[in-house]
Amino acid sequence: MLLCACARERVYWGDVHGHTAYSDGQGTVEEYLRHARDAADLDFVIVTDHDFGNAPPWRMPAEAWLHTQDAVEAFTVAGEFVAIAGFEWTSQPKYWSGAKEGGPADRLFAGTPHYYNHKNVYFLARVPDLFSAKDARYASPDLLAEAVRHAGGLIHNCHPSPGPEAVDQWDYSAASALVIRNSEIGPDVLWYEGKKHEPGTESAVRAYLDRGGRTGFVRGTDTHEGKPAARTAVLARELTRAAVFEALRSRRCYAVSHARIELDFRINGHVMGEDIEIEGKPEIAVQVRGTDRIEEIAVIRDGALLRVVSPNSDEARLAFVDESFAGASWYTVRVTQADLDEHGNLSRAWASPIWVRGRAMR
Ligand SMILES: [Zn+2]
Ligand SMILES: [Zn+2]
Repeated sequence: MLLCACARERVYWGDVHGHTAYSDGQGTVEEYLRHARDAADLDFVIVTDHDFGNAPPWRMPAEAWLHTQDAVEAFTVAGEFVAIAGFEWTSQPKYWSGAKEGGPADRLFAGTPHYYNHKNVYFLARVPDLFSAKDARYASPDLLAEAVRHAGGLIHNCHPSPGPEAVDQWDYSAASALVIRNSEIGPDVLWYEGKKHEPGTESAVRAYLDRGGRTGFVRGTDTHEGKPAARTAVLARELTRAAVFEALRSRRCYAVSHARIELDFRINGHVMGEDIEIEGKPEIAVQVRGTDRIEEIAVIRDGALLRVVSPNSDEARLAFVDESFAGASWYTVRVTQADLDEHGNLSRAWASPIWVRGRAMR
């Protein structure tokens, strides 16, 4: 375990994104949760079916949402396994403009189409109704965030993309970012079933941060086959739903693409996700315990590479002072490991950012 005893926190592994037959995935919620707990050996999992059904009236039925909440209660045992009920708020062109292939025949909204992409929404306690993107009361990220704030839930941005179907995904206020805490991050380029894809995910998230946006990093399988797996690590004091929520809310979380890489990233002793004010220059400390040879550790400042090392060993430490710090920056760390996933992609880990401001001279 990398984390120091003073923090009294440890890494818990989970998946924050996946589907069942309640939307466009396979299997029951119980099968999904059982796979997460027994086959994938996860500490926590969130089930996030789309807010639409697979046919008119294009809503998840009330019974499905209520049953999802019953199932996570039945599977949660503090200290052993935490299951969380959520849904994927699904706002995409076919719902705004109507009559596209596979979508509803009629337009669900009046007015100008927006391309908000998808957001996962999840709750600490039961809520009677989910907040569908098809409902005019929750049809924008700001409206959604306000409703979720009242319900005590959290939101993260799903599969960010620089593409045309996601142009409005960051269109929300700084106040809404208090509820929309994290974003899924992944490679800009990846291989899938032998073909090269360029989702541009990391660039999309970095561009948002460079515009002054605030977000931590998570990742999910987005499984539609009922097979959640370890993609998000949270740093928490105990394995309870409240502690997992607190870690996600505080952005004490990081994303991995495949292997369970342990990653500790601090600046002046503060952990990932924090917003700090310091005297002098940032003292950056990174500690990695890989599951294979670590090819690269990249420290990124304000979207650009600041320091890159190639440890070529399974464990590595990196510590330096950023002498060129100019008063306000965000930093993150990306680790690349030599092992490959089943599609041929290198394993990676991405630490949630730390935002640093220099204390003003008095
Ligand atoms: Zn989605
Ligand atoms: Zn999804």
